[in-house]
Amino acid sequence: MTSINSNYLNLQGSYLFSEIAKRRTKFIQDNPQAEIISLGIGDVTRGLPDAVTKAMHAAVDELAVPGTFRGYGPEQGYDFLVNAIIENDYRARGVDIQSNEVFVSDGSKCDVGNIQEIFSQDAIVAVQDPVYPVYVDTNVMAGRSGLFNSEIGRYENIVYLDCTAENNFKPSLPDRKVDLIYLCYPNNPTGMTLTKDELKVWVDYARDNNCLILFDSAYEAFITEEDVPHSIYEVEGAREVAIEFRSFSKTAGFTGIRCAYTVVPRELKGLDKDGSSVIINDLWNRRHTTKFNGVSYVTQRGAEAIYSAEGKAQIRSLVDYYMTNAGIIRDGLRSLGLEVFGGVNAPYIWLKTPNGLDSWAFFDKLLSEANIVGTPGVGFGRSGQGYFRLTAFGSLENTEKAVERIRKLSL
Ligand code: PLP
Repeated sequence: MTSINSNYLNLQGSYLFSEIAKRRTKFIQDNPQAEIISLGIGDVTRGLPDAVTKAMHAAVDELAVPGTFRGYGPEQGYDFLVNAIIENDYRARGVDIQSNEVFVSDGSKCDVGNIQEIFSQDAIVAVQDPVYPVYVDTNVMAGRSGLFNSEIGRYENIVYLDCTAENNFKPSLPDRKVDLIYLCYPNNPTGMTLTKDELKVWVDYARDNNCLILFDSAYEAFITEEDVPHSIYEVEGAREVAIEFRSFSKTAGFTGIRCAYTVVPRELKGLDKDGSSVIINDLWNRRHTTKFNGVSYVTQRGAEAIYSAEGKAQIRSLVDYYMTNAGIIRDGLRSLGLEVFGGVNAPYIWLKTPNGLDSWAFFDKLLSEANIVGTPGVGFGRSGQGYFRLTAFGSLENTEKAVERIRKLSL
């Protein structure tokens, strides 16, 4: 038989969502009349903006005719989309990005998962805890994590940066040498952010310690506060130490359509085994063009439409809809005396479970007494124990109903 990549056997089961589904199913079997509200969903629920569907319909019609038909496109994305990204997401904020630094893809999950391939096998990886699990699991698959220590619930060679209420979910700098630092802001799952000055500390650290920041800003569109940077490149010096990942998934309802992009500045350098410097952008370009054949023309026309005046107004109202929900959850729970975080610059609300309940005990209480499904914080890492994530992606009506139900609980 063929030998397998045994790193895959080092992965921990995706216990979180299967366990949620199991408990939910059991509850529904025992209580068929219960009307469950899910505030656990990480997927958007509103329709696509009109500007997007119009542009996509027009693009489909173009493809039907030989003169305007398009087959394989540039793997890095069509100029019309790359230029719209550069103008609107960067130049409008005073950041200069060149077209050969943008790589359009079919999702940030793939990009944040694949990026580690171009770094050495012995690179030391640092992640925030709690964390979006893709960063950890893809490094496990690559054999970079060391073994999982079930006593401490962590991989031996991964450096975990704890984010708890005690440090206001702002991790300390690593206490040992690391090579790659995954930062996610606005953060999933905590919904928290860093100010520009706080992010500068990380950029300066990366510059002083020869490491690279992998900056996931999938939730950038939800930022409402002035001092929260929309891009890491707003921080001086970041072009030499940071790769940025952006997604249209949550911004514009593209979770099913699939479109995202990654920015890899030309200044970013790494070392080969002889100590000579290598341009990281060239490596990512090589990887992208070898393993990826581009996002469909129709999808890219849809993404471009987000940047039209009509599209901008429509995605603003989508984001506002979810952020109204976030405010309802946040204020509602606060008024009950719960300790609540996030929900101001992100569609996630992270709460401290009351009365010292662990994350799963609170899950069971919420499900059985209020018929609400959320996500236990411990599922995102050890530091998430005693916390719970609610999302703002439901309908307004269900969000209001859920908060009313929680109000009636004895907490
Ligand atoms: N990064 C973070 C932090 C996320 O929470 C998600 C989706 O939930 C993604 C990336 C994936 O985005 P995409 O839909 O573009 O693959």
